[in-house]
Amino acid sequence: MQFSFKKILSHLTCIISAGLTLFLNGCDNNMKPSPEKGILQHKESIFSQNDKETWKLATSWNAEFPPFTNAVSNMAKMVEQMSGGNFIIEIESVSKHKAAFGIMDMVKLGQYQMGHTASYYYKGKDPVLLLFTSMPFGMNALEQYAWFYFGGGLELAQKSYEKHGVYSFPGGNTGVQMGGWFRKEINSLEDIKGLKVRIPGFAGEIFAKLGCAVTNIAPGELYTSLERGTIDALEWVGPGMDITMGFHKIAPYYYTGWHEPATELQFIVNRATMDKLSAKNKEILRVAMRTAAYDMLIQNYDMSATAWDKIKTEYPNIKVKTFPKPVMDAMRQANAELIAEESAKSLEFKSVVESQQAYMKKARAWTNIGEFAYIRDNQ
Ligand code: CA
Repeated sequence: MQFSFKKILSHLTCIISAGLTLFLNGCDNNMKPSPEKGILQHKESIFSQNDKETWKLATSWNAEFPPFTNAVSNMAKMVEQMSGGNFIIEIESVSKHKAAFGIMDMVKLGQYQMGHTASYYYKGKDPVLLLFTSMPFGMNALEQYAWFYFGGGLELAQKSYEKHGVYSFPGGNTGVQMGGWFRKEINSLEDIKGLKVRIPGFAGEIFAKLGCAVTNIAPGELYTSLERGTIDALEWVGPGMDITMGFHKIAPYYYTGWHEPATELQFIVNRATMDKLSAKNKEILRVAMRTAAYDMLIQNYDMSATAWDKIKTEYPNIKVKTFPKPVMDAMRQANAELIAEESAKSLEFKSVVESQQAYMKKARAWTNIGEFAYIRDNQ
């Protein structure tokens, strides 16, 4: 039996070309592989559909605010490249639209097709939205991404956001946030009482329950407020983002995290606009958002590792502390009370909390014998 080299080569070309076409087309069954046309023509055929889009995206951030703004620019760049230049997303920062906390309304009204912001900014409008950012004593980033993508979290987010006229997608995670910079050491619940602290959101309500005077100060005034003693403590994010604020130069106690274990930003998209997108552009957008979100987590991890290495070398007197057990217990208790109060007011809030708690119970059992045990046993 004789093998023809030409025949084999021809078969191989068919297989490779068909494979590439399927890869590029994803699940589009209308596009049949036709190997004889060649690879270049296939590429052109899927990018030549008439589905040009130019969107505007409003962010809650200043133009240069890494890594938050990187998540947005990476997403837009991926969308442009994957669509062969057909789908363009133009980014407008807070300096242009002046409405850091008005992103959801602007996207709902169609002033922008898309936004990049954080769910917990809208808890005053709708408390359930708080739950899609991060909860004190809640899931870490890995557990929470598993909940979003495989544990029903994304579906719950769409249900909660439907009444606001937008779709919501994970938009980048900070990973665990530090408990903040304190000028004095906290040894007891008494040390917490009367403390003037800048700590926003649900954690602020917890600190208030513990007797702190919780204040909200604009980011630009935080350093001076801490330096002058207008506040005794503050929390920001973690070493990667804290280092540029300079808090380590004026507050020697750096507390470990409890209140924002996995702060997720979000992309929001106007529902009607997204519904009209071609199937291909929808998929391009989905993949770009998901990739950019996870990439931000990794970038912030690198930023924090690098910044912490610098801080601990240049300021060796900084002491990393964990709140004492009675303080942590009181915080956990206050958190449970606040969640119970909100759950009593809203069935929707209750059902999202229950989904998160059930998922966390399952995921944490694995984390404990997996990631946690590995770190604990390999110091
Ligand atoms: Ca924070």
